[in-house]
Amino acid sequence: MERVHNFNAGPGVLPEPVLRQAQQDIWNIAGSGMGIMEHSHRGKVFEKVIADAEAEARSLAGIPDNYRVLFIQGGATQQFAMVPMNLLPAGRTADYLITGVWSDKAVKEARKFGATHTALTGEGSKFTEIPAPDTIRYSDRPAYVHLTTNNTIYGTQWRTEPPVPAGVPLVADTSSDMFSRPIDVSKYGLIYAGAQKNLGPSGIVLVIVRDDLVEVGPATLPTMMQYRTYAKEKSLHNTPPTMAIYVVGQVLKWIRDTGGLAAMAARNEAKAKVLYDAIDESAFFKGTVASNSRSLMNVCFRSPTEELDARFCAEADKKGLAGLKGHRSAGGMRASIYNACPEASVRALVDFMREFERANR
Ligand SMILES: *Cc1c(COP(=O)(O)O)cnc(C)c1O
Repeated sequence: MERVHNFNAGPGVLPEPVLRQAQQDIWNIAGSGMGIMEHSHRGKVFEKVIADAEAEARSLAGIPDNYRVLFIQGGATQQFAMVPMNLLPAGRTADYLITGVWSDKAVKEARKFGATHTALTGEGSKFTEIPAPDTIRYSDRPAYVHLTTNNTIYGTQWRTEPPVPAGVPLVADTSSDMFSRPIDVSKYGLIYAGAQKNLGPSGIVLVIVRDDLVEVGPATLPTMMQYRTYAKEKSLHNTPPTMAIYVVGQVLKWIRDTGGLAAMAARNEAKAKVLYDAIDESAFFKGTVASNSRSLMNVCFRSPTEELDARFCAEADKKGLAGLKGHRSAGGMRASIYNACPEASVRALVDFMREFERANR
């Protein structure tokens, strides 16, 4: 059977060359006579797989030497807890920029471990825009500032990093836009990204953390909750999800082979433009977020009624356009057009939108 156009929000579409290489390597990797999933995580073959994955991440994003690259389980959701467990000392406050469902979950988890302060919230606009950075009100000397760079559910995205008080680490959940554009790692204290949107399969999180923050967590934390464990043991304290790390490495290699982050960003901008232009030109479909906050990864839009939204998604699905239903908390439609989503998929969606509009307006 042919593959469909996959607009799933996560886990999402993966690059075809990566899937084809994985097919081979599941059977027999590097002429070793066994597949990637069957290798010891302490053996030579996997040692190279994880070292290559880290090296690809470092060269793609220009990660400075004073940052560790870690592979951690538990999804981005576990980072909602690990970040405050490690970086929020007793008596201090962590500042959160709330721009949607994920940052809200992150701050709620942080409150279990210490004081938090909402320095910005998009609640006033029902999270349909990223509020202006000059409306941020930081607390006095926060332990860190946390933001969500791309809001997967509402379809908004920070264009650039907000200003942060001098010396305060910026912590970013980049789960749905990591490696979709160049990133200046030196502006951050810690970056985390669940892999299943832009980087690979679910079950693994890429964490990039500055050396001085690796060691600040209390040594009394559970071993698996301390960043220092992963830094000291090169993410091999216990058996990691070897297959997931392998796929992340292959996806990063694919990004390099296709021109790196600047080329990726150019393709993502072109792809998103095709879709946003179609929405703007239509009197039938409407974008749901402010134009200055539009995400290049998750494009949210609506038809005139909820009933038509449902019909649109059902008919699209029949035509091989999968995963277009918006998140239950946002409604409408959402096309997730991550790195691996080909422009041809976006064009097929736009063609279907025009056809549906003609039939239903
Ligand atoms: C998907 C997503 C998460 C949750 O990731 P899990 O791996 O399911 O824990 C967190 N933050 C953002 C921005 C996401 O898109």
